[in-house]
Amino acid sequence: MDPTIIARLSEIVGENDISTSPLERTLYGHDAAPIPGLLTRFFKTTPDVIVRPESADEVARILCLASDSKVPVIPRAAASWSLGGVIPVKGGIVLDLIKLNRIREVSRDELWVEVEAGVVWQDLMEQLLEQGLTVLSYPTSAPSSTVGGWVSTGGYGIGSLKYGHIGQQIEALEVVTPGASGSRTDELPRRSLFTGLYNHDPRSEIRSVSKGTANPKMEWFLGTEGQFGVITRVKLRIRKHPDRTAVRGVCATRLQDLADLVGELTGMREVPYCVKVLDSGLMALRRKLRGVDAEDKNLVLAVFDGSAKEVRAATAAFDQIVSQHGLEPIAESLAEAEWEERYYPMRIGRLGPTLLGGETIVPLDQLGPVLSEIRSLQEKYHLEIGTEAHVVSKGWAVVLALYLADERKALRYMTRLAVIRDIVHIGLTHGGKPYGLGLWDAVYVRRRFGRKDLQELKRVKKRLDPNGIMNPGKFFRADTRFGIPIPMPLYATLMNILSLACRFL
Ligand SMILES: Cc1cc2nc3c(=O)[nH]c(=O)nc-3n(C[C@H](O)[C@H](O)[C@H](O)COP(=O)(O)OP(=O)(O)OC[C@H]3O[C@@H](n4cnc5c(N)ncnc54)[C@H](O)[C@@H]3O)c2cc1C
Repeated sequence: MDPTIIARLSEIVGENDISTSPLERTLYGHDAAPIPGLLTRFFKTTPDVIVRPESADEVARILCLASDSKVPVIPRAAASWSLGGVIPVKGGIVLDLIKLNRIREVSRDELWVEVEAGVVWQDLMEQLLEQGLTVLSYPTSAPSSTVGGWVSTGGYGIGSLKYGHIGQQIEALEVVTPGASGSRTDELPRRSLFTGLYNHDPRSEIRSVSKGTANPKMEWFLGTEGQFGVITRVKLRIRKHPDRTAVRGVCATRLQDLADLVGELTGMREVPYCVKVLDSGLMALRRKLRGVDAEDKNLVLAVFDGSAKEVRAATAAFDQIVSQHGLEPIAESLAEAEWEERYYPMRIGRLGPTLLGGETIVPLDQLGPVLSEIRSLQEKYHLEIGTEAHVVSKGWAVVLALYLADERKALRYMTRLAVIRDIVHIGLTHGGKPYGLGLWDAVYVRRRFGRKDLQELKRVKKRLDPNGIMNPGKFFRADTRFGIPIPMPLYATLMNILSLACRFL
């Protein structure tokens, strides 16, 4: 990278918040999933420089500079996502958002909070709890992941069944978009909902986006993985901390029995705060980790919260539904212990040495067959695989299947990547979608959005990011460092070969 760009970046963020150290740059070439060495040859995963801005103004000036110089910018928060969204494909500037970590304002009366995008969910929840408040929903990665990261990716997690997708909880966003080099798009609104904030470079685009904003639309920044700009602030609806929480668990040998049960739970008058299914493979891995023998049972956890009266009514209704289904409740203490584990689905990775996983969002009425087919991958590939499914709405469940691998055995490890493809395909064949795209699942972009929405997103990309500097080479297509995208037929052939090899290696 041109040293003058580095010098100008240093002027913007200050010399303590910029790094070109080889060690640090190597570390910033990774996310939660280890990349096989062979694949790194096709991508320039090591960034040229890392910067840590601490205001929207600094972000705006960085994007201006990058746009003028046509240098890639990769937003990076906690890097807890594993689809390669924070990994550079052609080097460039990694924009580490760790310093945008202030909780700006809390309104107890109107029940909202305004935070910078790099605020970690658990920190936010702890601060709110001191005032008897809490968030509506959060990802299970809450101990490390950030508010902006979840807005930019999946947005479904614990509490989604009751309160909906993160997009339904956002009142306003502050975003910085790069704009064209040397110009600005004056027709776009720039009135701030977050008053008196900026004193930015006149060519940069710091925008406030709320539900009613037509241009830009809030949806353009939900789950679009840093393609259109950087989210710097989020105004979120919150709630009073519930008086009571009750956890119930039910186990069964047949997955379909539990799938039928969860379908009925979504129709309850007191909507559960969370309903999730843990298949017998996951339970076996958990027990193995604790050194206990496996039991071939699948589990459903249902969590209810609210006033003491509401929780009493909901748990009584739940017990009745369970008994009508002829299913076996587990002891409340066991259910509560499972609930305490909710932040650590990846802990089984300690059995690894490596943990890989595939994720898909599927229609709820297909949950039984999807879980059974994923289960059958265990035999097909001689793998230890476990699956967790979160019911996120009346019609949909997010399914995360995890399996053990060993990155030290390079060839074998490569073949294990085919299993991720199989997991996503099982979802797709049952009317589901990929849950995210990043680098590794970018080939499914059309399946995720459909033709019409994808065309609109491509138009938006051209307008908001005309020089294509925002997180390039992923989401819309997986680009190699040579500028050649990975075409779907090549990807499919490669995965078929790996899949075949995976059965025998
Ligand atoms: C144990 C565990 C549990 C998980 N549970 C869930 C879950 O319940 N639900 C779920 O959806 N996911 C889950 N995930 C995946 C991941 O944690 C979430 O997607 C999380 O929200 C990512 O946040 P992050 O701060 O780590 O973002 P990162 O991983 O740093 O970034 C993710 C993507 O968003 C972009 N990005 C990040 N911040 C911004 C920003 N401010 N502006 C623009 N673009 C940005 C990045 O460029 C990247 O493409 C889990 C992961 C783990 C390891």
